[in-house]
Amino acid sequence: MAVTSPRDDKFHDECGVFGVWKVPDAAAVTALGLHALQHRGQESTGIVSFDGSHFHSHRGLGLVGDNFSDARVIAALPGTTAIGHNRYATTGATVLRNVQPLYADFEFGGFAVAHNGNLTNSHVLRRTLVRRGCLFQSTSDSEVFVHLIAISLYSTVVDRLIDALKQVVGAYSLVALSTEAMMGVRDPLGVRPLILGRIGTDSPAGGTGGWVLASETCALDIVGADFVRDVEPGEVVVINDQGVHSIKPFGRSRERFCVFEYIYFARPDSIMEGTPVYDARKSIGAELARESAVPADVVVPVPDSGVPAAMGYAAESRIPFELGIIRNHYVGRTFIEPTDHIRHLGVKLKHSANRSVLAGKRVILVDDSIVRGTTSRKIVEMVRQAGAREVHMRISSPPTTHSCFYGIDTPERGELLAARLSVEEMAEQICVDSLAFISIDGLYRALGKPDRDAARPHYCDACFTGDYPIALPDKADNSERQLSLLAESH
Ligand code: AMP
Repeated sequence: MAVTSPRDDKFHDECGVFGVWKVPDAAAVTALGLHALQHRGQESTGIVSFDGSHFHSHRGLGLVGDNFSDARVIAALPGTTAIGHNRYATTGATVLRNVQPLYADFEFGGFAVAHNGNLTNSHVLRRTLVRRGCLFQSTSDSEVFVHLIAISLYSTVVDRLIDALKQVVGAYSLVALSTEAMMGVRDPLGVRPLILGRIGTDSPAGGTGGWVLASETCALDIVGADFVRDVEPGEVVVINDQGVHSIKPFGRSRERFCVFEYIYFARPDSIMEGTPVYDARKSIGAELARESAVPADVVVPVPDSGVPAAMGYAAESRIPFELGIIRNHYVGRTFIEPTDHIRHLGVKLKHSANRSVLAGKRVILVDDSIVRGTTSRKIVEMVRQAGAREVHMRISSPPTTHSCFYGIDTPERGELLAARLSVEEMAEQICVDSLAFISIDGLYRALGKPDRDAARPHYCDACFTGDYPIALPDKADNSERQLSLLAESH
């Protein structure tokens, strides 16, 4: 059922997680994996390694390259197991104490955890834990896991982790490290991605090889690992010297993988649920062309995220694909700019019009999404200034009408253009001759699924439909079940 968001809080924690078990130079391999996952978070990064007797940690603000290029930093992270994290969160202070992986010393030994996603009941859990005397070091909701594990009455680390998982509500992927095992977890609906890979089985040094956990398969390619499988929704994988042990602590529930991973968030060379993201984006573009054809001279992507969809659109419509906008790669994503004014400038810094392609032409511009509308407005203005005769905007997602509470950065509902305006009004705002978004059914069809409501929806598409599959912050906060579970476990 569609519900509206009860509170316009910002809950976002776009992240990438990575871990390796029994691999030479584990920290260096982890730094490479994190580098491949840089698009999932650019604000801070960290690695915790384990050398068989001690844990070592390095965490810092900024990019992976800024923190882990120095050989001395890597040398100070010895061991054959390591986990790492990239984070982008704009709520809370950008301070080192919020940077993951989080690490704690327990009576059973050290424990480190890296988390992608959001816990929607973290407020109530945090309140209850603080009342019980837990001292929080950070404002990150991931620390809730650490305290729940610390106070659990179970004896093994894995049982304590499962005890903690049963108390949290949210969308998350976790990679955790103890003295005995590396663990990977996906939330019961599998909203956030996590994959398992094998590394080093054919290395000249021989040996049985090690294991990798990562948010996306693009992180396997860079470290020369092979894809084994997706970690399943609601699955806990425990990796130790005996191999991979799978536990399913939650009852069966239908998968609701985040459809925005296909549209924008994942890297195009990653494979998700067996589908190459690049192919998915091209199919979405083709479906968009079938749904909203318009006569034009060129199809122009808004780079980089609009490129595969524009290729699909151009192939289907038989209108030439041209690079009418050139991207400057030395500027970060415009989204990370803090104010509207700077964001406006940011768009100019990042994109410029390729006049020779645009002058006198009827242009179809293809982008993946309109959030606040800042990017589209500036791009359209730029394309018109370069002499385009007509500008038709085509968007490879349905209108973003709702905020994400499950780990993708979206502004408050009030700032979402599509939450306030009709498609016609949006077209007027961004000054285009026509504007069309892919339909929600078209999106499902492009991903090889039946129409959205023909079966129970396969994806989490709350940002487009308002159908939130996991209790939202207020609901989760008030959940008696959560409070009683917490009480029961003590
Ligand atoms: P806006 O300018 O606010 O309409 O933002 C739309 C642009 O931001 C699009 O070109 C997208 O490629 C990009 N975008 C959409 N969602 C996100 C996100 N969660 N994080 C960063 N960039 C995004």
